[in-house]
Amino acid sequence: MRRFFFDPTLRDGDIVFLSDEESHHIAKVLRLKTGDVIEILDGLGAVFRAVITSVGRQVEARIEEIITREATVGKSVWVWQAILKGEKMDTVVQKCTELGVTGLLPYQSSRCQGKFDQVQGRKKYQRWQRIGLEACKQCRRLHAIHIDAPTSYAESLKKRSDDDGVLRLLFWEEEKTTRLGDIPEIRDAASLALMLGPEGGFTREEVELARLSGWRTVSLGDRILRAETATLSAVAIVQFLAGSL
Ligand code: SAH
Repeated sequence: MRRFFFDPTLRDGDIVFLSDEESHHIAKVLRLKTGDVIEILDGLGAVFRAVITSVGRQVEARIEEIITREATVGKSVWVWQAILKGEKMDTVVQKCTELGVTGLLPYQSSRCQGKFDQVQGRKKYQRWQRIGLEACKQCRRLHAIHIDAPTSYAESLKKRSDDDGVLRLLFWEEEKTTRLGDIPEIRDAASLALMLGPEGGFTREEVELARLSGWRTVSLGDRILRAETATLSAVAIVQFLAGSL
């Protein structure tokens, strides 16, 4: 059965209004018709069986029954990701979604490559959200991945600072002592925050600033990994140690 995400704020009783993109997919790509049955997800863990009631620019569907509701995911894992060039960022969004990351916080630090203005930022942000939703469908994940709007490095350090019991880990190739296996707290932390740098790495000042905000530096071994390799390795290992893989 085909699955589509809807925005739970665009629901009126049993009637759900699908986004422009999902509507386009339903009407123009799959050519579904009024009366066809689909599965729709609210991105918060619920899956419904629904019947298409109107096909147009905005597809409408009527909820018939709830199929399943997944309890809130236990441990949350948020990834602070420096904005990478071109398709590398798309890869990071897609793979982090598959690996069960709760949310991504893209930021721009001093060694990020390439220009990044507001207009471009908005477009990229929308693109990452699309890629995230597609990946959720592909891996049959019920909770949508959160993707924050891009911010500066300093702003990003203030994010989610009210969360209780967060273990904050900054991955730094110059950390020579602490590795992931040396941090037993990973298993029991209620929430994990992972910070990964851009192709050019962090400056020493950026690392110091993060330390002042409670981030611990951690190594992924003696070799320097490419930025996207570092993110995917960090997430996979942390998810394993946390008991989520
Ligand atoms: N500035 C470096 C490379 C940066 S690699 C250089 O050019 O020499 C990009 C990011 O991947 C880093 O900011 C860091 O977050 C992560 N990373 C890469 N290799 C790592 C390692 N061995 N340990 C911890 N983090 C690593």
